[in-house]
Amino acid sequence: GKILVSGANGFVATWVVKTFLDAGFSVRGTVRSASKGKHLENLFASHGDKFELVVVPDITAPGAFDDAVKGIDAIAHTAAPFHFAANDPAELSEPSVKGTAGMLESARKHGSAVKRIVIISSAVAIMTPKDGPLDEYDWNNGAVEAVAEKGAAAGNFDKYCNSKVLAERAAWEFLDKYRNEIGWDVVALNPPLILGPVLHEVSGPSELNTSTKMMFNAFTTEGSKTGGGQWANVKDVGRAHVLAITRELPPYVPLSEVNKAEGKNVNRFILGGLGYTWQDMLDAAPPSATHYQKGAIGSITSRPRDMDNTRAQEVLGIKFTSIQDTVKETLADYEAKGWVK
Ligand code: NDP
Repeated sequence: GKILVSGANGFVATWVVKTFLDAGFSVRGTVRSASKGKHLENLFASHGDKFELVVVPDITAPGAFDDAVKGIDAIAHTAAPFHFAANDPAELSEPSVKGTAGMLESARKHGSAVKRIVIISSAVAIMTPKDGPLDEYDWNNGAVEAVAEKGAAAGNFDKYCNSKVLAERAAWEFLDKYRNEIGWDVVALNPPLILGPVLHEVSGPSELNTSTKMMFNAFTTEGSKTGGGQWANVKDVGRAHVLAITRELPPYVPLSEVNKAEGKNVNRFILGGLGYTWQDMLDAAPPSATHYQKGAIGSITSRPRDMDNTRAQEVLGIKFTSIQDTVKETLADYEAKGWVK
């Protein structure tokens, strides 16, 4: 089969492309300009014509993906901005929502072979104050309300959360509306902060994407290591995309009918989701990693709570990589790139 991966040059997407190619699929990636595809063409050259790129300059334009979806069997939509520097919340929400809704609309009109669309949402679309572990029934409505009330004065984290909630909601609402006339369903993947080695084009640590830059800074700069959140491994996220497309999944349930007590789910999956502090990451480094911050080794007694990731394990059949292996591979990557000697 042939998979369309939008935003193919991003941190997560490059791993998604690699995982599909390694699993034997053909991949068509979208990038915003031809120059952003050069690195990918080199990286995946050994796959020959099983990897191709198309340029979609503006994912918010109506019909942006109309040509890209033709002849495609399944879609992994990843293109969306992820940063904490937006002034106007629409800088994040517009490409996020229009990109997602536009991809689904293009698939509806021109994706006659499409069987499934996987969208990468985020754990931040789930995070909400609650007793007990967060799971796929939870929604971060607080961020949406905060942005609706405060606009540009809302917090930068809330602005990003808002964009992810609205984009994921747009996908489920689209499915509610058109499910009787389309031949595909939707899976949302909801990982928290994604960490691991970097395959995409990065000229140096300062050019890292938001999540991997946080990791690099934690290991290479002084400062408190008590902050943190929840994390996921980028290779696991890549494998989750393949599983989300290859596994038989429970039938679609409209969002309005989702009911935990009755076991009625949408196909929404928390990936990873264990709570960490940066000190935990430092503590997980192998003894040979001597060139990094050590912080106060073994000092952490409380950390952000774990999310409940059992659904992904049971339904997608994924096994998550340990913190030790994730840190080890990430540090090895810094050294291989000559960023830390
Ligand atoms: P990157 O910044 O590395 O990649 C983002 C990708 O989206 C790039 O291809 C980028 O293209 C594209 N993109 C960004 N803004 C726009 C826009 N306005 N119009 C069109 N394309 C755009 O981010 P990640 O790989 O980290 O994130 C990828 C996806 O994963 C996002 O949807 C993000 O929300 C989600 N996610 C990420 C997590 C993480 O911790 N990294 C955690 C959970 C979810 P270009 O290079 O041209 O800017």
